[in-house]
Amino acid sequence: MNLKFLSNDELLLGTKKVVAQEREILVEVLHHLKEIDGRQLYLKIGYSSLWAYCTEELGYAESSAQRRIEAMRAIRDLPKLEEKIESGVLSLSNIAKAQSTLRRHRQSAVALAKNNEKAQYLGENEKLRIFAQLENKSQIEAEAILACEFPEIAKVNERIRKINSEETEIRYVASNRLIDKFEKIKSFFSHQNPNPTQAELEEMMADLVIAHKDPTAKAQRQTKMPRENAKACDKSKLAEDKPTKETNLPPLERQPFPPHGREKNRYIPVRTRSQVWRDAECRCEFLDPKTQRRCNSRHKLEIDHAYPVAFGGSHARENLRLYCRAHNVLDAREATLMG
Ligand SMILES: [Zn+2]
Repeated sequence: MNLKFLSNDELLLGTKKVVAQEREILVEVLHHLKEIDGRQLYLKIGYSSLWAYCTEELGYAESSAQRRIEAMRAIRDLPKLEEKIESGVLSLSNIAKAQSTLRRHRQSAVALAKNNEKAQYLGENEKLRIFAQLENKSQIEAEAILACEFPEIAKVNERIRKINSEETEIRYVASNRLIDKFEKIKSFFSHQNPNPTQAELEEMMADLVIAHKDPTAKAQRQTKMPRENAKACDKSKLAEDKPTKETNLPPLERQPFPPHGREKNRYIPVRTRSQVWRDAECRCEFLDPKTQRRCNSRHKLEIDHAYPVAFGGSHARENLRLYCRAHNVLDAREATLMG
């Protein structure tokens, strides 16, 4: 349709019509995401999270994906909000902002309850009251309302913003307790850098944690792994890697590895562990059997037995693979179903 031939009235009316359709489609998208999330379908096709699926498979920008996921959770918890989105009184960004604030409020209530402190959980009506306040409000107005309702949470609103291809700006509010800890840590590093900037200090702290917690670095220390091998897992080298369809890796399935006899030792030998991490290039090896798409997540990686130890699988190299936590759980669940 060539819009140039429409009268002004027709153009204005037509715009309202397509915007209404856009909102209906948005609710439809949220329903689809809800169902995919419920079935954890993203795991089966090689994504470690719904967010990874939305950004990589559906092509949403990171913030758009986040807004849709938050809004999906909001309508899952409070189905009454659906009509508010459809009618346009609640914008996607306001609904997402409120949902993420409510989530953080719940997390802090859980933390308080764990410490036997008084925690306040919000009921459905209370949550609906919060959302109702954001109707027909701009983003700035909505932020101000949420800051008033949840002053403690608004204070710790962190901001992570990419400022160029090399750098990211991180803003957060630190408590006096944290500042004291930073000052103390500075004194530990004074021989290395007597007056570090906050970014330098955090990088030194990160190096220290990685040296002690990164399984590759640990294995390297214990086996005195040659430096060339260690480079396989060098994060800076891997940083440019994008999840890809990998066809050079053999599909890792349960069947090809028959029982080797029940393992007496619970622990996988350090040398084998480091071999698994190196071969996997420190990325999740889960493959979608249909498309051969590899997950490649670097989040919470664990070594998984293709043929579970409980069913007689061994610690032999060919029975091991590196999976992210989400795929490890999926695999364990399916192994139990098959077992
Ligand atoms: Zn994975």
